[in-house]
Amino acid sequence: MQIVVHYHEIALKGNNRNLFVKQLIRNLRRAFQDFGKISARSLFGRVTFELDTDNIEEVHRRMRGVFGVANYAVAYEVPQDFETMKETAWKCFQETQGRTFAVRCRRADKSFPMRSGEIEREIGGYIFDKCLSSGRDIKVDLTNPDITVRLELVGKLALISGERRQGPGGLPSGTAGKVVGMLSSGFDSPIACWQLMKRGADVIMCHFHSYPFTNKASLENCTLLADLLTRYQYKTKLYLVSFAPVQEELLSMTPADMRMILYRRSMVRIASKVAEREGALALVTGESLGQVASQTLPNMRVIDEAAELPMLRPLVGTDKDDIIKLSREIGAYELSARPYEDCCSLMLAKHPCTKARLKDVLDLESAMELEELEAQAVKNAEVIEIKWMGDHAEHKQLQAPVYKEGAMGCPLDL
Ligand code: ATP
Ligand code: MG
Repeated sequence: MQIVVHYHEIALKGNNRNLFVKQLIRNLRRAFQDFGKISARSLFGRVTFELDTDNIEEVHRRMRGVFGVANYAVAYEVPQDFETMKETAWKCFQETQGRTFAVRCRRADKSFPMRSGEIEREIGGYIFDKCLSSGRDIKVDLTNPDITVRLELVGKLALISGERRQGPGGLPSGTAGKVVGMLSSGFDSPIACWQLMKRGADVIMCHFHSYPFTNKASLENCTLLADLLTRYQYKTKLYLVSFAPVQEELLSMTPADMRMILYRRSMVRIASKVAEREGALALVTGESLGQVASQTLPNMRVIDEAAELPMLRPLVGTDKDDIIKLSREIGAYELSARPYEDCCSLMLAKHPCTKARLKDVLDLESAMELEELEAQAVKNAEVIEIKWMGDHAEHKQLQAPVYKEGAMGCPLDL
């Protein structure tokens, strides 16, 4: 079957347009890579591609994940011959259901001798008469029809389609540059990463864990979440950073109520190093204002001060209910709901500080040897490349993990 894809024109104006369209075509090929060779082309402001399948439900499922697609339809490609166009429009009409209809025509170039309005009226009349003679009850409705038969005249071809589906919108993944997404095993950060992907960013994921002082649940959950998210950007680099050596230092040197802030600042510094190594230009977190103690404005300000790059918080103004809704929609909910031992919950105060002062935090940090530990954390991280193969993810280890021997400074009840 042939699919015609429309993208949002406004976002793709100017010199960047070719780049966006090329990336959109690359992403479509990756989404359907297991369907055999896909011929795709850019045609006067739309993309068409041919798929060797009859499984339309699977096509819809995959198209929901291709960012940059505004809408799409299964289309017939015919020469610009009026009789053929008319019969094909009738065929498209018959494949759809509804009681009202309209015919819409757009001419990308105006070489066809009939004007768009004329084509619409002629073909609309033809469909109406055919219905009348076959006893099908149908009305013309030009404002809100159940069925719209579309004719797009492009070059020497006519693309004719019936039912059109909404795509996910956004911009093609891989067109906005790289960011480092701080991915926990919770609900928020996978959604934050997903939102950046939807705006075209290539999200490198970075998870901090305390293994071997905790079990591997957060590592495993995060890897599964990264697999799921890779459906939307097709290739992901995942850093699994052992945070235990840093925590060990922080646990022995700082009061419990300040640890959350210090953990976060350290994570942000380590993520900044990952960003530098990968050429990423911003960090992404799943924070939402006021959601928990570490996410008050004073604390965010103190955490931001540790970052060398802009901190993007796409969920800062989003309620938890809406985050959960999105999480269910993209299929992350079950993974995020799995139990895990969070490295951040180790040795925290019952009532963590909600109004951290930068000076106090800097004083505490200056008494510790964090820099070397943080540099080591990147060197000792496990780095995995995840590739989306169309219907499953494949992994390749790019860097093997090194875990620090010995126990943390204090006994942990695991
Ligand atoms: P989430 O649902 O994303 O875990 P949360 O509501 O639990 O968020 P926090 O635990 O305060 O909030 O974390 C705030 C943000 O810090 C997370 O959204 C994530 O971006 C980052 N973060 C927290 N823990 C980790 C971790 N272990 N590894 C990587 N990033 C983390
Ligand atoms: Mg969390």
